[in-house]
Amino acid sequence: MRAVRMTAPGVLELTEVPTPQPGPGEVLLRVGAVGACHSDLHILDAAAGTFPTPMTLGHEIAGTVETPGPGVDGWSPGDRAAVYGIIGCGRCRACLRGEENRCRVVPLGGIGLSRDGGLAEYVVVPASRLLHVGDLDPTQAAPLTDAGLTPYHAVELARPRLRPGTTCVVIGIGGLGHMALQILVATTAVRIVAVDTSVAALDLAGRLGAHHVVQAGPDAVDKIRELVGPPPDGADVVLDFVGAQPTLDTARQVVATGGQLLLVGLAGGTLPVRPVADEPPTVPLETSVVVPFWGTRAELQEVIALGRAGRLHADVQTFPLAEAPEAYEALRRGDIHGRAVIVP
Ligand SMILES: [Zn+2]
Ligand SMILES: [Zn+2]
Repeated sequence: MRAVRMTAPGVLELTEVPTPQPGPGEVLLRVGAVGACHSDLHILDAAAGTFPTPMTLGHEIAGTVETPGPGVDGWSPGDRAAVYGIIGCGRCRACLRGEENRCRVVPLGGIGLSRDGGLAEYVVVPASRLLHVGDLDPTQAAPLTDAGLTPYHAVELARPRLRPGTTCVVIGIGGLGHMALQILVATTAVRIVAVDTSVAALDLAGRLGAHHVVQAGPDAVDKIRELVGPPPDGADVVLDFVGAQPTLDTARQVVATGGQLLLVGLAGGTLPVRPVADEPPTVPLETSVVVPFWGTRAELQEVIALGRAGRLHADVQTFPLAEAPEAYEALRRGDIHGRAVIVP
């Protein structure tokens, strides 16, 4: 079968490999769609030895069951499924609570992270990683597993503050941010302020239900403060799906006293935090900072329910498998709107 593999750090290639066979408790899935994630660029850019090579990339996967392996119950050939990408140790305090995204033994274990992923015609996954998606199209089901699940988990962490009438600032209306807006609209009654550099992304934000849009730039903090109030007031929750220095600086200057910053994007910025109230402030008093990671299987089931109910729809740009390397280059350049999805 054809597979797009990281053959060495930084090298992504379309190769021919044997079709894998499912072992006990595993399922061979015919891949229907795979989302291209910024995290894949981090995997490609990581130092040698951080991730195994050669390894097929792709951790945002949906498809159709081809062959259930020995001992697998509940799955039959032809069933449509989405893949929960994380594989925790299953034994630590976090895994026992169902929080495999917080596993204390295997920090980055998963499909397309520590074993072959879905950028191929077929992928073998543990049956425990599969969730039924009904008749959802794979190009819609795949983005739910990361671009949908990651913001859903972040919103879950912030939910005690997301009371009706509070304000949430969403920075970065890309693959994850445009899903976050829909999750906020579907599950809360908050006022949403969307922030992005791109006019097209802000247009999309408006269509998806953002109450206000602000174009990122030198005056973004002032414009957001006009909407959420100046310090010590501000936004109850700020979700940063970019994580660059300018977005982190904006986030900490518009969050309210006692608010919450959730830093999801991995663009390499640093958030300074000092436990003082004098000038210049770093973050307001009583503010909490969270660095969410992906989500839980139980949350993915809820995200799929939102997708099946028509409340969560990924804006996708599709590419054939052979064009996966070009799709990642476009992602790196910032030329992808919504989510890039590869269809083997
Ligand atoms: Zn990802
Ligand atoms: Zn664990």
